[in-house]
Amino acid sequence: MIRFENVTKSYRRGSRPGLSGVDFEIERGEFVFLVGPSGSGKSTCLRLILREGLPSTGKVFVLGRDLTSIANRKVPYFRRHVGSVFQDFRLLQNKTVFQNVAFTLQVTGASRGYVQQLVPQALELVGLAGKEKRLPHELSGGEQQRVAIARAIVNRPQILLADEPTGNLDPATSIGIMQLLARINNNGTTVVMATHEASFVDQMQRRVIELADGRIVRDERHGGYGDTSGLPMLQPEKQRGAESIAALTAVLELQKSVAVDAAPVSAGAAPQGGGGGVDAVAPASTRDTAAPEAAPEQPADDEPIVYRTGPIEIEIPEMPEVGVADRLGLSERADDDQIGPTS
Ligand code: ADP
Ligand code: MG
Repeated sequence: MIRFENVTKSYRRGSRPGLSGVDFEIERGEFVFLVGPSGSGKSTCLRLILREGLPSTGKVFVLGRDLTSIANRKVPYFRRHVGSVFQDFRLLQNKTVFQNVAFTLQVTGASRGYVQQLVPQALELVGLAGKEKRLPHELSGGEQQRVAIARAIVNRPQILLADEPTGNLDPATSIGIMQLLARINNNGTTVVMATHEASFVDQMQRRVIELADGRIVRDERHGGYGDTSGLPMLQPEKQRGAESIAALTAVLELQKSVAVDAAPVSAGAAPQGGGGGVDAVAPASTRDTAAPEAAPEQPADDEPIVYRTGPIEIEIPEMPEVGVADRLGLSERADDDQIGPTS
């Protein structure tokens, strides 16, 4: 679905290339973390997948297309299949939530009826139903990122690229965004996410491609951000898939932040989601159930932190079917668009 063949990207003559000799292949439906220090080439990778720029040498194949030979006029059609979100949200500040999400569809010439149908579905999916008329500045950071995600997926792309999507958000808010990306992936969208968020990478146990100085130094099927051998880890049941992993991730993250917060103060310290932050609202699915349970006894210094998940139940909301028709190339919008799900 995405393949890099010996890709090098040089920005300036004489300076170190942004990527050198990068080879990898991502299959349909995968969730892949791109990790590595700042300047290691993560964003460069994502930009090449989006065909925002071409490799200096090597080839990039996405959805069966060789992006190095795709005509410029075809690029907008190609990009309909690839949604993207960024650390800084990139919303249109003078447009409402609804208009921001609708805009993506409108520029592709979608009918009014189609817009009226898809935008509410996307907003529902990201948990923003009822906030259609707000302007971006009337939303918290987490809500703004949800708008950006709704915008990225509203036309049901096969691939979602996320460049440090939680980089501007507090930990409690980031959990909700991470759950949302896991849910989108669970519905079949391939997700590639560049991140510095070690805890998510460690707990999701998904594929990790690590870059350093523009080269791949690690490509692990079920990896962590770094050395995870010292981390307590609960293995989710395999059969239950991404939703249970996402739910477990949320629980572990909440418990961990509570444990850390509680350590220097009293045992009853509020969890991160309980107040204070820019966007202190935990995802609705965890807010009521997980937070009260998540205040453990204060661990003694020499005691390992034990995570309890037994009594905590998280409801995973229903999600409308996303993009089956599109992924099968059956959508009515596929007329002038020759990019099919060929790989
Ligand atoms: P990351 O996202 O991992 O922080 P980037 O892909 O942004 O890394 O950058 C990789 C390298 O390429 C860095 O050395 C960076 O300075 C360089 N680079 C990235 N974008 C540009 C650009 N537009 N012009 C010049 N150099 C760039
Ligand atoms: Mg970057």
